Amino acid sequence: MEEYPRNLAEFDRFFPTEDACRAYLVRLRWPDGFCCPACGGRTGWPVRAVLFECAACGRQTSVTAGTIFQDTRTPLRTWFHAMWWVTSQKTGVSALGLQRVLGVRSYKTAWSWLHKLRRAMVRPGRDRLTGRVEVDETYLGGVHHGRYGRQVQTQSLVGIAVQIDGACLGRIRLRRLPDASTPSLLAFVQDAIEPDSLVHTDGWVGYAPLRRHGYRHQITYPQGQAKSPSQLMPHVHQVVSLLKRWLLATHHGAVTDEHLAYYLDEFTFRFNRRRARSRGKLFFRLVQQAVAVGPAPYESLVRYARLPPPRGPQHLGAT
Ligand SMILES: [Zn+2]
Repeated sequence: MEEYPRNLAEFDRFFPTEDACRAYLVRLRWPDGFCCPACGGRTGWPVRAVLFECAACGRQTSVTAGTIFQDTRTPLRTWFHAMWWVTSQKTGVSALGLQRVLGVRSYKTAWSWLHKLRRAMVRPGRDRLTGRVEVDETYLGGVHHGRYGRQVQTQSLVGIAVQIDGACLGRIRLRRLPDASTPSLLAFVQDAIEPDSLVHTDGWVGYAPLRRHGYRHQITYPQGQAKSPSQLMPHVHQVVSLLKRWLLATHHGAVTDEHLAYYLDEFTFRFNRRRARSRGKLFFRLVQQAVAVGPAPYESLVRYARLPPPRGPQHLGAT
């Protein structure tokens, strides 16, 4: 089932009521029919319009239980509007923008919705990149809440992997890295790229063991005529400049270091679907993944797991 609205008029026709939204979630969460989260039973019947009762164990489940919509007091239609707005804007939307469009009273609410949706932008078990892949790191400037609430400028290290399809940019993977050491870079490469792919990097020693871990490794050294990094890794640097522009334009560069990873997920989600024929397809994917990832209570959005502080700029050749 890949039914989705292609424009705002169709959106209104698809989702006129709470029931229509709920029915859509049911189809996306259980495409092969109901499945009880407690016992795996495949037979259930509706109770009071919003619940399913398992025929085997008698447990009652709602379609939103165990998803990012769990325990929400917000109508599903408002969530659907938020997801439509987030995916129909080519460059995304800031919390302030979402607050205005939906008429939400508090900025904090709009902010937490966007962060919940970002959690759904990474598909669980997504495929790794294959074929020819350029890999590099870059420093991104950000703000950090320092002592006494003052905002401090920080630099965050980000790993970038770009699959090259012919002469074009293919899919990408981005990750906030604690440092540019071999363990950090290797973990990123192994999560992002299939073994036996051709990984193209610069001469940084952090990448030296790639071959031992099953990758073909092409190294370009910046020797000879002084080549700029953008000539060495043209595809990576094209992605980096788009990423920087997006952070500045949509989020005014005000992305905190502790939340950067989720903004990278959003950028990746958009970038990898930039050629989708319809924005509705992005909406469909977002809803589909929203019922596949677990809930993210507000406290967990704020109480982030802090990464160890970077060891300092050991490798500046990538910016
Ligand atoms: Zn059951």
